[in-house]
Amino acid sequence: MSNENNSSNFIKNIIINDLETGKHNGIITRFPPEPNGYLHIGHAKSICLNFGLAKEFNGKVNLRFDDTNPIKEDVEYVNSIKEDVKWLGFDWNNLYFASEYFDEMYNRAVLLIKKGKAYVCDLTPDEIREYRGTLTEPGKDSPYRNRSVEENLEIFEKMKNGEFKDGEKVLRAKIDMSSPNINFRDPIIYRIAHATHHNTGDKWCIYPMYAFAHPLEDAIEGITHSICTLEFADQRPLYDWFVAECEMENVPRQIEFARLNLTNTVMSKRKLKQLVDERVTDGWDDPRMPTISGVRRRGYTSESIRNFCQEIGVAKADSKVDSQLLDHFLREDLQPKAPLAMGILKPLKLVITNYPEDQSEMLEIENNTKDETKGTRLVPFSRELYIEQEDFMEDPIKKYFRLFPGNEVRLKGAYFVKCNDIIKDENGNVVEVQCTYDPETKSGSGFTGRKVKATIHWVDAKTAVPCEFRLFDPLILDDAPENEGKHFLEQINPGSIEILQGFAESVQIKDAKPLDKFQFVRNGFFSVDTKYTTDEKLVFNRIVPLKSSFKPSK
Ligand code: ATP
Ligand code: MG
Repeated sequence: MSNENNSSNFIKNIIINDLETGKHNGIITRFPPEPNGYLHIGHAKSICLNFGLAKEFNGKVNLRFDDTNPIKEDVEYVNSIKEDVKWLGFDWNNLYFASEYFDEMYNRAVLLIKKGKAYVCDLTPDEIREYRGTLTEPGKDSPYRNRSVEENLEIFEKMKNGEFKDGEKVLRAKIDMSSPNINFRDPIIYRIAHATHHNTGDKWCIYPMYAFAHPLEDAIEGITHSICTLEFADQRPLYDWFVAECEMENVPRQIEFARLNLTNTVMSKRKLKQLVDERVTDGWDDPRMPTISGVRRRGYTSESIRNFCQEIGVAKADSKVDSQLLDHFLREDLQPKAPLAMGILKPLKLVITNYPEDQSEMLEIENNTKDETKGTRLVPFSRELYIEQEDFMEDPIKKYFRLFPGNEVRLKGAYFVKCNDIIKDENGNVVEVQCTYDPETKSGSGFTGRKVKATIHWVDAKTAVPCEFRLFDPLILDDAPENEGKHFLEQINPGSIEILQGFAESVQIKDAKPLDKFQFVRNGFFSVDTKYTTDEKLVFNRIVPLKSSFKPSK
């Protein structure tokens, strides 16, 4: 892969030290998604980090589904996550499901009970919350805290056997209700949920909580460096406590890094699911979604996402990255890859009145004016063309050099045309521009007689392929002053998608398949949509426009 991670970061320094001191002979990392939604760009950062470290240090990396909550999880998510990791360019050494460890986790919980380090509690969720205390006040002991080991073992087994209802009892670690770290105030380690699990079916009706399950999963797999996001820093002592008290052989080390936040984006599966469920977007893979499947459908390349993750690096403090930085890496990656073509998004008919009606020609147009190695292509040309509506003005504003009555411009790769007349519909809209062309001015003929101030693009009306173009703006306007502090569903941009019916030049795009990418002259980079494209009609998603004012600071 071209974008190998050579730069240094604090996690690498920890690993280098662990290898040098002989603490580990090799590293094992993991990417542990919960299959309760589709992956997003934030996950890509974690994937690039975990898979990248394993690769760089010749280690191993596990893809582990943290499937301990059957209520929210689904195989649809499992499959999409696998596909997304692969698409990002990574492969795992092992594929595991946390649910494979349910027996072992149960046994370790029994061990805690036997050591007097866990007990069954009958308090209601509200009571548990109340007894927990606050940051400034210590908690209170549960009245069930001093149940005997025998009683705890017996009730816990009954919990497992399905003798109680959801929420009736929980198993809690017995640590310290007055600890300044609230996580230590007898955290819940098992709860009852009579729900069918996508892997274990109805075998279990008690499920381990994340705080207990995660350290055990890491330890069972021999993970050396367990990398997670900053909000878990307070849980690290508890993580270590579970590994130690459950007498796990392998001792993983939890390391936290700052999660990726992007402007104009929500980055939480819960919120993304809300957008899908409330039909704000057209599913998880809507091209406006920051999901991996969404940006893939939009036409983002995995290279540009990896380069972006490499550029933003790994930090210890939370921050928000400007989403235009990602656009920058997209353009950089697409520029040499996406073949050039002319496409008209908002068509206006242009008729060349002195071009013979029965005539047509194939013009050879270079694919890249700055790079000859990109070759040329043949573009049909005849009497009737389409140009962009915005390339014509009946009453030109100051400094408008494109087409207007009496003015002459170059048609890209073709001839000079001069506007002599216009035709309007009954509402006064210009529906046709009538021009004459000068055969002397053919591109490449070396004509130097006179100059024009603008070149506009066009397509041949007879042969052009009707296409739909979908243009996108940010889905979330979290930076708009009027949206400050509002709930994200109130920050939705009502104009986040614009659907246009236009045309594209025929030869270049005639064999276009879903996900093929093109650079449409002056209009940006586009990708063929996978969902709405049919045999009859090509639908293009705009990946990014060509320009932005944004420059990443290097
Ligand atoms: P979400 O809030 O989107 O549901 P999560 O952390 O609950 O995210 P998981 O499925 O548990 O989702 O995430 C798998 C891994 O991806 C975790 O190790 C998590 O730390 C990491 N991750 C999630 N979101 C981000 C992000 N925005 N930036 C970096 N890493 C992330
Ligand atoms: Mg989570």
